[in-house]
Amino acid sequence: MKVIAKPDLVAKDVYETCISKVRNKDLKERFRKISGSIEVADQEYQKKAEEQQWFLIESSDGVDGIVDKSEMEKVYTQRMVGKKAPGRVLYDQLINSAPNGICPLCGQRTVSTLDHFLPKADFPSLVVVPLNLIPACSDCNKAKLDKVPDHESKQTLHPYYDDVTREQWLFAEVKEESPGTISFYTSDVDTYDDVLNERIKFHFRELDLGSLYVSNANSTVTEIQFRLNRLHEKGGKNAVKAYLEEEEESRRNNHVNSWNTAAYQAMMNSDWFCDGGFNEFKSNP
Ligand SMILES: [Zn+2]
Repeated sequence: MKVIAKPDLVAKDVYETCISKVRNKDLKERFRKISGSIEVADQEYQKKAEEQQWFLIESSDGVDGIVDKSEMEKVYTQRMVGKKAPGRVLYDQLINSAPNGICPLCGQRTVSTLDHFLPKADFPSLVVVPLNLIPACSDCNKAKLDKVPDHESKQTLHPYYDDVTREQWLFAEVKEESPGTISFYTSDVDTYDDVLNERIKFHFRELDLGSLYVSNANSTVTEIQFRLNRLHEKGGKNAVKAYLEEEEESRRNNHVNSWNTAAYQAMMNSDWFCDGGFNEFKSNP
């Protein structure tokens, strides 16, 4: 999970840009009427966000009984995402806000879409509210689907609000068997409150990050096997360990909760692995 600076776009401006080219007079008039409600929804969202309480925001079928939810969904899909849509430049701005184009939710795959933190099907007034739009990869976006959080611990992490990047909570361990594998797990951070610790666990599980990281870690081992063998021939398990420690330090300094920090840590901490266990990892054909 990575942090992204909050977008400096104003919700009302984004909404008004998106609806600026509506031709149908009746629709345009109705869209205009609810402009103030979009602003209110944005304010409520920000207020709830401060307490990690997005789950208390009520879902609805439309906005003010004036615009229904399918019309609102189209404000996003047709007037913001569409290549020639008036809101497209704002969409691009949000997409491009993820550092190096990496999805902040998994910290691994590339960004290809915007994820509605509170789903657009249930929260029509938030369809184009910038703070509800998170650059994401399509797998993370799909994993979240249209699930509405119904409890504080069942809210995934929010890259604009949750800075969980300083303390380590992602760990891994080497399964000392043949074929070898590295598995991942999360651990509570003492200085985080219970809700945040629960949300980290939920995020990890909900987005199935364990499976993603296992395949990355296992393939990393097969990539460095040749080198590990050379080190082992010359200096035994200590030489292998020293090399892994250096790699781990570098990755930890870059990102303490990346899968490779956890993976290198697990490798260097396993005597079995350092003493030749690394050869038990097989690349999948
Ligand atoms: Zn992702």
